[in-house]
Amino acid sequence: MNRLDVRDLRTYFFLDEGIVKAVDGVSLHVGDQETVGVIGESGCGKTAMAHSLLRLTTQPGEVVHGNAMLTRKDGSRVDILALPPDSPDLLSIRGNEISMVFQEPMTSFSPVHTIGFQIGEMLATHTDLAPARIRERVVELMARVGISNPRQRFDEYPHQLSGGMRQRAMIAMALAAKPKIIIADEPTTALDVTVQAQILDLLKQLQREDDMSALYITHNLGIVAEEVDRVYVMYLGRVVETVSTDRLFARPLHPYTQKLLRSVPQPGRRVERLDVIEGSVPVPIGLPVQCGFYARCPAAMKGTCDTALPALTEVEPGHQVRCFLYGQETEPNDEWTAL
Ligand code: SF4
Repeated sequence: MNRLDVRDLRTYFFLDEGIVKAVDGVSLHVGDQETVGVIGESGCGKTAMAHSLLRLTTQPGEVVHGNAMLTRKDGSRVDILALPPDSPDLLSIRGNEISMVFQEPMTSFSPVHTIGFQIGEMLATHTDLAPARIRERVVELMARVGISNPRQRFDEYPHQLSGGMRQRAMIAMALAAKPKIIIADEPTTALDVTVQAQILDLLKQLQREDDMSALYITHNLGIVAEEVDRVYVMYLGRVVETVSTDRLFARPLHPYTQKLLRSVPQPGRRVERLDVIEGSVPVPIGLPVQCGFYARCPAAMKGTCDTALPALTEVEPGHQVRCFLYGQETEPNDEWTAL
């Protein structure tokens, strides 16, 4: 049974200018102990999707449709998106069942509380540890994620730690209640390359030791190649291709995925110049019903790609693509299209 099953998730932002369809019908699943990646340029809806799963979307954004079935530690199933915002169930899911590692811990930690206090709060909320034991457990957690002098660091404030140490502290906080899924949103973007590698190794090791599943949100294809079993490529709020990581690098099919892969250096591939994806992701307000990549696609077919939205279609076992080059199936014109 999958740890997480997301079906037809739609998160829209209701602005004066119109409705921004940040996430527009995303379905994905994360298996037990599986590492799944979500990739795409900035503005493709990756982070909005991750926030929706933890119900962190704030006004004017709203999850307007979909379900996200979570298999809890005790084996019971719950639809996270159906829970009331103030439900105790939802509070217990955040941190206890699913945790998130954010890209810039400086803005995620409170600047006026010590690191140790903030990690301890997670334990106080989700465990029945006596207050006297919490400090000891926090020091153990800080040592486990490689924070040197954890007893001294316990009483330090976020600004007193380096970027790498802050990210380790964030991982300690995320793992404090032993969640079964960790969502890592660009976990190493703010770090230099050496520290990036250390943090990724640490996450991988902890994931293995605690039997966790992981969902990496990233635009870094190096992270995908190294860390991830299966990938979802997102463009304009939708999944445009999904397949195993090996297959993605060996045989990318969607023109957007092909462009993404050609735009970064790859071992064993000699090129004069790296490819660029012309243009930028359009703002998803009032767009015509057509392939979202039409304006930027080198293979676009006038009269086909600009007349309907291609459906996500299986082209080989475990490999789905949303493109008219691989099938003529279209998405239905439904109430969501009409918005
Ligand atoms: Fe390109 Fe057409 Fe495929 Fe869209 S459907 S990615 S425009 S070929």
